[in-house]
Amino acid sequence: MRSYHSLSAVQSDLRENKLSIAELVRYYLGRIEQHKHLNAFLEVYGEEALQKAESLDKKFKEGKAGKLAGMVIAIKDNLCYRNHRVSASSKILEGFTSLYSATVVERLLKEDAIIIGRTNCDEFAMGSSNENSAYGNVLHPMDTTRVPGGSSGGSAAAVAAELCLAALGTDTGGSIRQPASLCGVIGLKPSYGRVSRYGAVAYASSFDQIGPIARSMEDIAIITEVMSGADEYDSTLSSKPVPAYSKELNTDVSKVKVAYIRDCLEKKGLDPEIKARVSEVIEKLKAAGHTVEAVDFPYLDYLVPVYYVLTTAEASSNLARYDGVHYGYRSKNATDLESTYKLSRTEGFGAEVRRRIMLGTFVLSAGYYDAYYSKGQKVRRLLQEKTFALLKKYDFLILPTTPGTAFKIGQNTADPIAMYLEDIFTVQAPITGIPAISLPMGKHSNGLPFGVQVMASRFEESKLFAFSNYLMENY
Ligand code: GLN
Repeated sequence: MRSYHSLSAVQSDLRENKLSIAELVRYYLGRIEQHKHLNAFLEVYGEEALQKAESLDKKFKEGKAGKLAGMVIAIKDNLCYRNHRVSASSKILEGFTSLYSATVVERLLKEDAIIIGRTNCDEFAMGSSNENSAYGNVLHPMDTTRVPGGSSGGSAAAVAAELCLAALGTDTGGSIRQPASLCGVIGLKPSYGRVSRYGAVAYASSFDQIGPIARSMEDIAIITEVMSGADEYDSTLSSKPVPAYSKELNTDVSKVKVAYIRDCLEKKGLDPEIKARVSEVIEKLKAAGHTVEAVDFPYLDYLVPVYYVLTTAEASSNLARYDGVHYGYRSKNATDLESTYKLSRTEGFGAEVRRRIMLGTFVLSAGYYDAYYSKGQKVRRLLQEKTFALLKKYDFLILPTTPGTAFKIGQNTADPIAMYLEDIFTVQAPITGIPAISLPMGKHSNGLPFGVQVMASRFEESKLFAFSNYLMENY
């Protein structure tokens, strides 16, 4: 079977009877089996997906199928799907079955997407390499000695290895865009308040967003269109109408204003080839008549610290619910209530999650709240104001997604700070709530892909998609 990189190609072959959805599902199931060693999936819903495909084939022929008929999609293992397991790749949720579906899952199913399985990730979405999963590493599809990135590493690897057409991830500080960059696929973090978080396992609620990973801008646009918009179960959502993103991809972007932050490109640790590629795109944009200017943003060094102060605080509160009583894992060595809490949490959570809970509890503690948490909030506000001011003058900000290409398994595990610096270019968007996308526009001389990142004002996804489409096609 030929390989498919967009839903429209699938649907056109369906229409011409060159393909059936059942064949497509069988094809992906076969590839998942062949690529088992990547450990991208924690569970595959083979039977169920095939059954659904057969009934959908009929529906498609009758012209009654939804917008996403033929979309074979994987979901990250921190999204609830009724009567299916969800573990956030943690031992503490081992064996837990969802009682309801996330809003995004409901909306995808309503448009006839087929969910083919749940993908491996860093435990509770905390990590940049998938090495924090309780269920083993995910391997990079192009070099199995390397990481696929994280935390949505299983989702990015699955799309890159063509184990499904698209996948959902969550992004709190880069978890969709960073693995997309390292695996050579597109990853979008929508604006905060665009996509419902209901049914996503919470990490840091004022940062978390669900978004798609795919190979074409068309697919990114249509999945976002289906998932977005008000939801009575998530009060942080905007009631702004959702544009038909998939129909606006060819909006004219012939004269746009783009800025790049000078210090981003001068950042120590940025791979020279990534710097060169971003600079090349900038020069080409100028040559094509766009306004592209260097701007100062002397706050880059605050981004990663603010992110880790605030997200760990929110995590310590969100993860308090895993107490050995309500959900999942309970220690067998416990003898009373207190030891149930202590032992279940100590045994159930992995090292990185424990580190973040402790850090977050510390920054929220009475003696240090003002010094860390309140201060962090103030700096977040400042970063928001400065970023919004830039986006008032410019349509887009352009920057690298990651400082390097996929690194070796184990390379950053001894030093959490080195791992946290992986997030340097991706945390600005979730700190400020703006949308950001990683486009697979780079190929390193080491043979590995890397992304170019674009950010826009909040709720300007339509413009962001059109510009991304233009960049992907012309640059
Ligand atoms: N890599 C970042 C972290 O470890 C981002 C995680 C995320 O976006 N969920 O927290």
